[in-house]
Amino acid sequence: MLSARELKKAGMDVLVLDKSELGGESSWAGGGILSPLHPWAYSDEVNALARTGHHAYPQLAQELFEESGVDPEYYRCGMLVLQSREQLSKQQSLVMAWADKWQMPLSTINSTTDMQFIAPGLSTDFQQGLWLPQVAQMRNPRLVKAIKGSLDALGVSYRENTPVEQLIITEGKVEGVKASGRSFYAERVLVTSGAWSAGLLKETLPVPQIKPVKGQMILYKGRAGQLKTILLSDNRYLIPRKDGRILCGSTIEHSGFDKTISEAVKQELQESAVELFPALARLPVEHHWSGLRPGSPNGIPYIGRHNEVEGLYINAGHFRNGVILGIGSAQRIAKIMLADR
Ligand SMILES: Cc1cc2nc3c(=O)[nH]c(=O)nc-3n(C[C@H](O)[C@H](O)[C@H](O)COP(=O)(O)OP(=O)(O)OC[C@H]3O[C@@H](n4cnc5c(N)ncnc54)[C@H](O)[C@@H]3O)c2cc1C
Repeated sequence: MLSARELKKAGMDVLVLDKSELGGESSWAGGGILSPLHPWAYSDEVNALARTGHHAYPQLAQELFEESGVDPEYYRCGMLVLQSREQLSKQQSLVMAWADKWQMPLSTINSTTDMQFIAPGLSTDFQQGLWLPQVAQMRNPRLVKAIKGSLDALGVSYRENTPVEQLIITEGKVEGVKASGRSFYAERVLVTSGAWSAGLLKETLPVPQIKPVKGQMILYKGRAGQLKTILLSDNRYLIPRKDGRILCGSTIEHSGFDKTISEAVKQELQESAVELFPALARLPVEHHWSGLRPGSPNGIPYIGRHNEVEGLYINAGHFRNGVILGIGSAQRIAKIMLADR
């Protein structure tokens, strides 16, 4: 959707085809943290796209609001990464080098008092951490609704419930796609179908290494301001929304395209949530869902021209970071496609 928006703004005629509802898959299901979870563990490719997102999202959120009337709730709430003393000392130089390279304010917190000052209500079991005050978030369901509204305002055509079944390729050049039993012709085709992208490209070589990775999440309805910042401990996190809702995620499950949720995982997530923020023991779980991340090797997305098929492009494989990497990736693919015009 962001790619379509960039291409339309640059003057291209764009038609988006989606098998179901626009923005209804991973982009709806995610947490919307505008940072990789442990950014120092990622490659420069991922961090460069994250930096673009970090700088672009405040203005993008404003534009989307103005174009759609939907507030995607950009919220700079900071992220507190909870670490043991051993983890902190082991990673110190890596973390500091990352902060310096990408110019991200970061401080090491070493006392319970300081931890409680940043995150009142945090379990007192956590006494050390890394504080990233500039990390922001967006509220996914509102973000996708706002982008859809922006596509409407800009006059981007789209067809929902229109699954693409096949690419039309003649003599090494793409001519369009077959979708819902019809042929749609275009000079260029951009594959942005998330976890499903490899399936669409299965007849072309090389096939990108993109696989679905399920993540389950739960949601609590707390008081506004009850939790002040994102809390991250290993692979578990809590995200406070502006209205008091608190998300807890997420699992990493390699179970194909199966999106079923389980009671056992719900309980596991509840236990993690209470370990981080004990007040959640008193709140019921309001909602529980899953989404399929487009998993890729080292979480590095595929953005560019197809090597063998003229007119074919891909922007997919953003794994755990497709929201923060989304705008940088859309700008990059638009630049590549426009250069070929
Ligand atoms: C639980 C969870 C938590 C997450 N948390 C974060 C986070 O905090 N921060 C962050 O940056 N990222 C996060 N992510 C990752 C992020 O959500 C994804 O990387 C991103 O949404 C991928 O966007 P996408 O557009 O490539 O894929 P999707 O949003 O899945 O969109 C792909 C679209 O393609 C359509 N499609 C598929 N096949 C076809 C076909 N054959 N024909 C037509 N249409 C088709 C689908 O219907 C869908 O609408 C999280 C993901 C999950 C699941």
